[in-house]
Amino acid sequence: MSEKKIALFPGSFDPFTKGHEDIVRRSLKLFDEVIIAIGYNSAKSRYFEADYMVDRIKSAFLPEDRMSVMVYNELTADLAQKTGASYLVRGLRNTTDFEYENSISQVNRYLNDHLETVFLITAPEYAHISSTIIREVHKYDGDISPFIPYKL
Ligand code: ADP
Repeated sequence: MSEKKIALFPGSFDPFTKGHEDIVRRSLKLFDEVIIAIGYNSAKSRYFEADYMVDRIKSAFLPEDRMSVMVYNELTADLAQKTGASYLVRGLRNTTDFEYENSISQVNRYLNDHLETVFLITAPEYAHISSTIIREVHKYDGDISPFIPYKL
């Protein structure tokens, strides 16, 4: 039997958006399993609690059983090794994302050379969606429901 293709989709997901959801759904067509991993850094405060986000993300993908969601607090390259993921998935919206993603992927390659980073280009309808903007809208009582794939 050939080995299961497991992909890790790491990010802050503060909050998880429809842009992220699109990346996960497209990844599920390429890989057998997708693990969404919320990076938790105790020194950085979050707007939406990580555990709350785990619950909300799960609700968006029911009844899909090939995806899972977790919170982690270690090197992404180490988490990939522990979970058996050979692929890291990241989304690209523009050249700013590219510059940043290019550097992280070089470091991840250095840390774990069995790990291949795969980039999916954002679908145009989601290109403008960013967690930062959604946080701002929510902070000032705006309706963020058009940008997120679950109910708050
Ligand atoms: P990080 O803090 O690690 O950048 P984010 O939660 O902001 O985490 O994003 C996780 C990944 O999703 C990144 O690769 C980012 O470029 C990508 N991403 C963010 N928003 C979108 C979007 N609207 N469409 C496609 N990819 C996106």
